[in-house]
Amino acid sequence: MTDHASTTTYVYSFKEGNGKNKKLLGGKGANLCEMTQIGINVPPGFVISTEACLSYLDTHNHDLPSDLMEQVRKQITALEKTTGKGFGDAENMLLLSVRSGSALSMPGMMDTILNLGLNSKTLPGLIKQTGNERFAWDAYRRFIQLFGKVALGISDEKFDKPFDLIKKREGLTEDTELSADHFREISDIFLEVIRNETGKPFPEDVYEQLQLSIKAVFNSWMGKRAIDYRREFKITTDMANGTAVNIQTMVFGNMGDDCATGVGFTRNPGTGENVMFGEFLINAQGEDVVAGIRTPKPVHELEQDMPQMYRELVALRDRLEGHYREVQDYEYTIEKGVLFCLQTRDGKMNAAARVRTSLEMANEELITRDQALLRVDPEELEQLLHPRLDPESKQMPIAQGLPASPGAASGQIVFDADRAELSRDDGIEVILVREETKPEDIHGFFAAEGVLTSRGGKTSHAAVVARGMGKPCVAGAEGIEVDVEKHMARIGDTVLHEGDMITIDGANGNVYLGEIDTVPPRFSDELRTLLSWADEIAELKIMSNADTIDSATQASDYGAMGIGLCRTERMFNAQDRLPLVIDMILAKDKLDRQEALDRLRPIQRGDFKDLFKVMSPRPVTIRLLDPPIHEFLPSEKQLEHEIEHLQHLKDTVEGVNDLMNTMQLLRREADAKELPKPFAPGGRELVDAAIAKKQQMLLKVRELFEVNPMLGHRGVRLGITYPEIYEMQVRAVLEAAAECSKEGFDVQPEIMVPQVCTGQELLWVKNIVDQVRIDIEAKYDTKLKFKFGSMIEVVRACMRAGRLAEIADFFSFGTNDLTQSSFSFSREDAENKFLPLYEENNILEDNPFETLDVKGVGRLMDITVKWGRKTNPDLKVGICGEQGGHPESIRFCHRIGLNYVSCSAPRVPIARLAAAQAKLTEKDYLTDL
Ligand code: PEP
Ligand code: MG
Repeated sequence: MTDHASTTTYVYSFKEGNGKNKKLLGGKGANLCEMTQIGINVPPGFVISTEACLSYLDTHNHDLPSDLMEQVRKQITALEKTTGKGFGDAENMLLLSVRSGSALSMPGMMDTILNLGLNSKTLPGLIKQTGNERFAWDAYRRFIQLFGKVALGISDEKFDKPFDLIKKREGLTEDTELSADHFREISDIFLEVIRNETGKPFPEDVYEQLQLSIKAVFNSWMGKRAIDYRREFKITTDMANGTAVNIQTMVFGNMGDDCATGVGFTRNPGTGENVMFGEFLINAQGEDVVAGIRTPKPVHELEQDMPQMYRELVALRDRLEGHYREVQDYEYTIEKGVLFCLQTRDGKMNAAARVRTSLEMANEELITRDQALLRVDPEELEQLLHPRLDPESKQMPIAQGLPASPGAASGQIVFDADRAELSRDDGIEVILVREETKPEDIHGFFAAEGVLTSRGGKTSHAAVVARGMGKPCVAGAEGIEVDVEKHMARIGDTVLHEGDMITIDGANGNVYLGEIDTVPPRFSDELRTLLSWADEIAELKIMSNADTIDSATQASDYGAMGIGLCRTERMFNAQDRLPLVIDMILAKDKLDRQEALDRLRPIQRGDFKDLFKVMSPRPVTIRLLDPPIHEFLPSEKQLEHEIEHLQHLKDTVEGVNDLMNTMQLLRREADAKELPKPFAPGGRELVDAAIAKKQQMLLKVRELFEVNPMLGHRGVRLGITYPEIYEMQVRAVLEAAAECSKEGFDVQPEIMVPQVCTGQELLWVKNIVDQVRIDIEAKYDTKLKFKFGSMIEVVRACMRAGRLAEIADFFSFGTNDLTQSSFSFSREDAENKFLPLYEENNILEDNPFETLDVKGVGRLMDITVKWGRKTNPDLKVGICGEQGGHPESIRFCHRIGLNYVSCSAPRVPIARLAAAQAKLTEKDYLTDL
């Protein structure tokens, strides 16, 4: 026994417990205290604190604190006084319910024990008192069963089996058809089960029953189910530590037709509508509603069945919401015309309902606008922005991967991007299935409804690109073997062929065979209004990463305040540009390259004009070319294969040609009509040219080979070695700006340089920009207004922030690369090889490519902002890495004084809300920098 126990209060009656102290009393217990104290009719009772639970679990032999039962006895005596009944009294017995309850609701962690206090002596009293033998025996067998299961750890089936046997013997299907005699027989059998399983008789002593039940509730805190639940939902000891035990007088909804039991929500949790919502059952016990043994009736029918009770229930609902200022999920029982509230808690609801109730409760002045913004989890909004699988569908998945980009889509399987595009042109909806994707697959992304890969993590190329486009993606579905060559995939014994229909759900990573209906997203007027409130509060601006007119339009619709990152290489990859880009790469000399660039420029200019117009008058940040140029070429292996294939085809066709010629010679003069030749005139030359081009590409691929391309010839390094590429891009941006201005659009271009390490690099590009500016201003006879800035994605750039800020108008943290360079982790390798293990073992709390690593990368960012603003106080600073759309990262970005975050279009609403919350909670944000 613990010796400090005698000084501690472990037990609180509902009349005295602090309703705000959920940590101590658990959510359920605290609310029971609060309801009691504001005068709601709650069956009297008391709470044993979580402190008692922790003290119990702390002892070696699991001893209750020394005077706990003493304190419990005192409370029982008080209960006896209040109710006029006696605990264990054979004539006028006090019966109790025993329930667990921690600070956070953990549904299903432990079952409730009802009717505690029944034994062979009190049972006859109950029969006499109620005049209802069937009711009393049913109560008794329920108690033995629940006590046996929960307090004594006997498995369900030991009770269910004999119960079912009796029903079978009698030819009955429903429990309600069983008589008092049946329940008596069942009770006897159950008592026998207990004796057999534990070697001891069922405890007749009511205090022994209570003590065993309290211990069982405490033990359940460390049960596997509860531990798994806490791990799954990341419930730390800070959030909930130990469970309380709620001991409450029983009230009965099953004593006759003037009794009922029900559950309710103060508003409709499916839609948020402000109406009575819930179900009830006449003459039933609470668990009957939950267990679905009988079909409950909708609450509005109570108005006909028990008009007075309905009026009281409406009043209870108003009272609860008025007090808690939150939608409540409550349980009640009507015992012989008296309404009791058994518990209440904050209601869980879907995102649409949460948004609507936030707005309406604020408009009703039940809560403030700030509270309305804080009560919606930004991540939940995701549900509202993507099509979802029809919740009615019960189909089982055939495989599972990572939920890499939310939304659901169905389509026919295709195994390569070209096929995706051809199918789309034929009006067929497809899902692109690959082992993993590469930049050259980009047109496949455009064409497909969704993407499924068998390798890669949540920040793999497929995931990042799909998220950027707002398309569903399931990544790393390792159970799928993809064989691109044979155009098939295998999942266990199932073989999938091109054209087979599948459905993917990017919200949970499930893959299904066949088509499943989806329900469209709802960007409701309520959400629009709520987010407009968020914009008024937030200090951070929310920009979007967008490279196409579609994603820019979506971003604009979702309230983006500009484009924070346009990756121009994505434009290079589109089908009509790629051949030009390849010509540029294959160019023999500068002149040759310039010729290809001259053909690309008008196309880029057109793209930029489209983006500027959609976003006008908001800023559009164009990043100059970043990836190593070999990424625009097929791989060495693929080229070798294609050349061999073409060569083979050519030989075959030539062979057929020869054969035809021979046959021609053998034919009789009379019918000497020419036989068809497989090679049309000029065909051979075309194939030769194709082979030659592929051979040239192969040579180039070998020439461009790099050991470590991500640290190699890319970004500004590329721009310095091939200045004509950046020159073309800058010219296209500024021409587009000048032309848009002439057409009356207010445009704000921002030119951004990737991978900068030194001030000299930035100056080099700045010189190109200055020269082009002079040209364009003269050509269009206009003054151009635009900004010039640097990506910060290299550690050295952080260290040289002061110098870079003398040259740049703005910085944008590319935290994808900055995370890689800070950790010296290659993202793909880390996610494929060791990051999951790191997370599992708490070596890293989170994947730093998803959640900004505040302690390391964040520290670098903080220093960079400070040093940058020292030399350039007007420096605008933002973030455009993947983490920019993550609420926790946004909180940090607000904290270090960034001006904006830029994220993929579908995350813009989430980021807008998160930015407002960051402002509203800035005082509670504790991070040592
Ligand atoms: C980054 O590195 O964070 C970034 C935005 O650039 P990319 O992802 O294109 O490398
Ligand atoms: Mg980068």
